Amino acid sequence: MQKKFILAETDIPEQWYNIVADMPNKPLPPLHPGTHQPIGPEMLMPLFPMELIKQEVTTDRWVGIPDEVREIYKVWRPTPLFRATGLEKALDTPAKIYYKYEGVSPAGSHKPNTAVPQAFYNKQEGVKRITTETGAGQWGSALSFACSLFGMACDVYMVRASYDGKPYRKMMMHTWGANVYASPSERTDAGKQILAQDPKSPGSLGIAISEAVEMALQDEQTKYALGSVLNHVLMHQTVIGLEAIKQLEQAGDFPDIVVAPFGGGSNFAGISFPFLRYNLAEGKQIRCIAAEPASCPKLTRGVFRYDLGDTIGMTPLIPMYTLGHNFIPAPIHAGGLRYHGAGAIVSQLLHDGLIEAQSHNQLSCFEAGILFAKTEGIIPAPEANHAIATVIREAQQAKEEGTPKTILFNLCGHGHFDMSAYEQYLSGKLVDHEVTQEEILASLAELDTPLIDAQ
Ligand SMILES: *Cc1c(COP(=O)(O)O)cnc(C)c1O
Repeated sequence: MQKKFILAETDIPEQWYNIVADMPNKPLPPLHPGTHQPIGPEMLMPLFPMELIKQEVTTDRWVGIPDEVREIYKVWRPTPLFRATGLEKALDTPAKIYYKYEGVSPAGSHKPNTAVPQAFYNKQEGVKRITTETGAGQWGSALSFACSLFGMACDVYMVRASYDGKPYRKMMMHTWGANVYASPSERTDAGKQILAQDPKSPGSLGIAISEAVEMALQDEQTKYALGSVLNHVLMHQTVIGLEAIKQLEQAGDFPDIVVAPFGGGSNFAGISFPFLRYNLAEGKQIRCIAAEPASCPKLTRGVFRYDLGDTIGMTPLIPMYTLGHNFIPAPIHAGGLRYHGAGAIVSQLLHDGLIEAQSHNQLSCFEAGILFAKTEGIIPAPEANHAIATVIREAQQAKEEGTPKTILFNLCGHGHFDMSAYEQYLSGKLVDHEVTQEEILASLAELDTPLIDAQ
């Protein structure tokens, strides 16, 4: 009988893993949006506490996790690793499938893994309030939870379309004591500028970032936090992969393929970077695959160049695979994957051929998620369904080839707040949105930022 739960005695890691130390080509520096010169730490100081700025640029391989943070991690870490025996059987595949389940955190996703240390370092440096943006509400709820633990105020700019359409995440944030504002709002110049053009603007992540950054710049005791993309955020998430290595060791296994859904790159980095280290340092050949939506395909169809992180132009230029910062993806239900760009580290790794990417249509993702729910029980977040679609593709490939591959994927969150999306799928109302090449080219044509090199 195969063991289903590999919760094990795994301890919570004592250090985060920083892949920059092992990258053959280091990530390129962020640039000032006006001068196009590399920015120094002083430009980030109004936005982030010093410790996070140091983590953003460090080349140390291991960074210690503060005891206070590990103590809070104990609420949901170590997270369980499961063998997906039910899914394997349904697919009749020789592949072994494992998944790490991050939906057991208080916010229901991997996001608290970085929200807690970010709140901790802000608190340590005397910050009183943190501003942020949120799309569907996962990141906003994780940061609200973390701020409540440290007694800090939290202001969340929530994309208007989600604010109106997905009220339960908003109520979660309120429960943890945060203030939630529909974005674009009248509270900021950025919001007013957008509303002047379009009073009914449904908002976007890029606009909400502009608003949150603007508010942080106005007050010395207020700082800003980002839930993905940045180097320190990706590093905080490596607790996922570090635990998985030990848990798989106890199962007597090691993956050939590691898969995660991809928004800005944090949960993909979290599960895959500790495994990529074996490739970079020991010449192993684990395939690490990022799964993205066909409606927001920055990795598979975007270009590698400098681009803004937001809509208005308040952030530095980041070297990223991007669809252009004005790209507005179709309103698919995987809200966490609707960002226009990928973080600098993941972009460099993709450019160097060290990781892979696949895209999936919305309907095939829900089909995959429902098969998973029926065979494994857990109802996945719509984002996680993208990883499951890739896993199924790879498991079927293994069957055709007759090779007993071992596949590990990140089940980054549960879908309990996304039931209206499942309802729409089940009642046949959901549609696919494949973006056309003309749309991508039109969005990219608006960029005047530095190209990185020949594609
Ligand atoms: C935010 C989020 C994502 C996408 O963000 P990454 O930084 O790419 O991990 C994916 N899944 C869930 C459940 C999320 O909350």
